[in-house]
Amino acid sequence: MQGFVHSIETMGLVDGPGTRTIFFLQGCPLRCAYCHNPDTQKAVGGEAMTPERIVEIAGRYRSYHGEEGGVTFSGGEPLLQGEFVYACLKLLKREGYNTCVDTSGFGNPRYYSKILPLVDTLILDVKAFDAASFEELTAIDGFDLYLKFLASLDEHGFRGQIWVRHVMVPGYTDNEESMREFIRLLKPIRARVDRIEILPYHTSGVKKYEELGIPYRLEGVEPMDKGRAKELEIYANKLFAEELRQERLESEQKRQEQFKLFKEREVASQQEKSAMLSGLRQLPLLNDVAEEDVEDVLNQIILSDIKAGEYIFKTGDPPEFMYLIYQGQMKIFVNTMDGEEQIFYIYRDGDFVGGLNLLVQTPYRYIGEALTDCKVVVIPKATFDKYFWDSPVVLRSVLVKSFERIRWAESLIQRLATSNASMKTAALLVKLVNRIGVETEEGIRLELSMNREELGNYSGLRRETITRKLGEFKELGYIELIGNKVIIVKDLEALESYSL
Ligand code: SF4
Repeated sequence: MQGFVHSIETMGLVDGPGTRTIFFLQGCPLRCAYCHNPDTQKAVGGEAMTPERIVEIAGRYRSYHGEEGGVTFSGGEPLLQGEFVYACLKLLKREGYNTCVDTSGFGNPRYYSKILPLVDTLILDVKAFDAASFEELTAIDGFDLYLKFLASLDEHGFRGQIWVRHVMVPGYTDNEESMREFIRLLKPIRARVDRIEILPYHTSGVKKYEELGIPYRLEGVEPMDKGRAKELEIYANKLFAEELRQERLESEQKRQEQFKLFKEREVASQQEKSAMLSGLRQLPLLNDVAEEDVEDVLNQIILSDIKAGEYIFKTGDPPEFMYLIYQGQMKIFVNTMDGEEQIFYIYRDGDFVGGLNLLVQTPYRYIGEALTDCKVVVIPKATFDKYFWDSPVVLRSVLVKSFERIRWAESLIQRLATSNASMKTAALLVKLVNRIGVETEEGIRLELSMNREELGNYSGLRRETITRKLGEFKELGYIELIGNKVIIVKDLEALESYSL
């Protein structure tokens, strides 16, 4: 495999932390009016290099990188050569390099989930703060795509820091209102932003346009006054700091409210509490906690009584608590765009949720609601960080659970996309048999905590369809229905054959 490298800077000091070897890659879909390297825009050109050659060149300058420095991919738009950048980053990371990518967010999305987890610093070029100026400055109608890129960094596994850069052109964004829009735009990535820089527009690239015979769109625009750009940079940074402070305050307030709510519902009877605590001690999650810390842990966690229909967490809740179901059932769902509820999982005794959120510090993406009256163990973040964060047992449990959930979500997506109503109903019944089925003389008894509508939401069917299908299965002798809340599965094999 080969990539096209426009040029190399061996001792770069501004494109990422410390001293860096910078590879400027060929190709960019944008046509920024102020681009001072228009010769990098063509996809092919420069020198063809293999990832191995990149590592070899980086190796020559490694001794200058020091503790903070490393390798940067810039451009052009480096993410456009996604496969190549991924191959380079993989090799560089294997050798312990610090990595940085300087992007405008217009690469090949197929490689984002592979590349972004390998990036330590992302330099994010913010061209404009609204659709019209974006199109005017870049010559493409791509503002929405850009916003999508920002919002998806976390989803693509990016866990590093972000340096945000904006080239300020006189008459476009050199005012305080623009700076306020700028800071608002950063909201989805706020927690990762380490630095905000304003680069004053200059005209040193104009000559290249003349040489290449390309018309220069900012003809006549004076260079940006450096002093004014600095003032606005300071203003933007102050605004950002204030927003961060406000966000922290709000999040702390929310945490306290949640804490209060769980405390108010704390199991009251001392007897019940002690029985639960000794039960909890048997859970693998507490296995790794040292004997002398157990009491402290048990004092910090809250044992809450949650009534059926009450929320345990909601979409967007900050990662402040992890929840373990001691008794009862909880449904995890989202409300879809057309107002339907899509249930992903039903959790019951011994299941937990939120471990991964605490580990990687991402907000809750789904809603958790008690399906039946529940007893839930609420583990605050401070307790998790102190006693569980580096416990191999806890980490393994969280990983195994996450893996099981990914597998389940994958099969759910496949089922929703490819199965007909009979297959979906049969698959739901088989799933329920595995989760809550009890062998009896009449067959496998399912005591349901969900009504027909929720069963439909769990399996991707409308209430009427699932009711009709259950009726058909009953006529075929596969199941028996006792009221609305009990199903006896008579012929599991027949149901299983639907999913073969
Ligand atoms: S994104 Fe960078 S390389 Fe691409 S056109 Fe704009 S300034 Fe030039």
